[in-house]
Amino acid sequence: MSAKKLVEQVLKGEFTYKDLPMAAMIPVPATSLEYKTGAWKTVQPEIDQQKCIRCLLCWVYCPDGAIKRLEDDRIEVDYDYCKGCGICAATCPVKAISMREV
Ligand code: SF4
Ligand code: SF4
Repeated sequence: MSAKKLVEQVLKGEFTYKDLPMAAMIPVPATSLEYKTGAWKTVQPEIDQQKCIRCLLCWVYCPDGAIKRLEDDRIEVDYDYCKGCGICAATCPVKAISMREV
């Protein structure tokens, strides 16, 4: 079916989400810890603790929750889950994070 025809059917109410085929399912919640996706990366962040001002912006913005906040407010990267997207490096206001090839 063409996209145009599908849109027409949706607008007429002839095609709803109930008509979609069953897709992939996640049968058990909260399984992300079991999948160490860090092996996907080709670059990884390195933190210069001397430059870091402990603002925690990288911790907030990391989409994978791969930046850990230590008890003394230092941060470190959990490379088991970091996918090497570089958002933390782009976010850091003092350029304390550099991306290096793995
Ligand atoms: S590179 Fe991406 S996934 Fe890895 S710690 Fe930085 S923001 Fe998180
Ligand atoms: S964003 Fe930069 S300065 Fe802020 S905590 Fe992370 S590494 Fe440190």
